[in-house]
Amino acid sequence: MRTALHRITRQVLTAARYEEIYGKPIDGAGNERHRDYALCDICDQDVYLRAEHSQHRIPNFSHLGNSSFCPAKDFNAEAYRRLNPVDADPQAALALKNAFFKTWKFHWVEFNRIIKYASIYDFSKILKYANRHGMWGYRGMRIQDVLAVLLTLMDFMPLPKDKRYLRDYGFRFFYKGSVSNTNEYWNLPESRRSLMQVKYEFPGKTRTFQEVNISSKNDVIFDPGYLTGVYAEQPPVNSFVQDFMAKEFPNLSGL
Ligand SMILES: [Zn+2]
Repeated sequence: MRTALHRITRQVLTAARYEEIYGKPIDGAGNERHRDYALCDICDQDVYLRAEHSQHRIPNFSHLGNSSFCPAKDFNAEAYRRLNPVDADPQAALALKNAFFKTWKFHWVEFNRIIKYASIYDFSKILKYANRHGMWGYRGMRIQDVLAVLLTLMDFMPLPKDKRYLRDYGFRFFYKGSVSNTNEYWNLPESRRSLMQVKYEFPGKTRTFQEVNISSKNDVIFDPGYLTGVYAEQPPVNSFVQDFMAKEFPNLSGL
């Protein structure tokens, strides 16, 4: 991770800023300097700066070897994707699913805003995944809660070559704190559920998501209007998006 938090002020630190505050790894007498750890801004555990003077590597903050779970370090797509709502109420699940599809344009528009140039193919893929895996059965899930779970189900790669100028980095979404899977997230009180959007650079020939290339992390801020869960007039979407969704989900309303 290219940034971390100052452990007292909680300001965002880059490697350069960390060195400004704590000094270089070796002091004037040639001894290794004691420097306080910074904090990971996802899990709040200690992280240390490494590769700060490497010729070949980008300086980055890394978790200690014995740290507990953190999604940045231990990301396990499998755990996030394992959707198994406990005691699902089939009727409530069906009602939620129908309500979601009836208002799908609102969700697509918000999804696209957060991802920055999202693909309707991705949106459709994660909805199909959610349908197959019973995501709608989480107890107490409201329509405005669905998108947070959907966003964690997939890696969002940088855009293809001809569109790279629009977005040349990728995103992953993590549940904040030491939450390792979706069921744990749903067991948290609502006030403690939050989602982080983590940006990964893809320098040079990089083709995969790598912790060392995490360049920033932000809390996902959903649009306040969206969070009310009251969706009146459907926003316009382009005809390709409309037709594609109608083809993919022919039996669902709102299309
Ligand atoms: Zn962490």
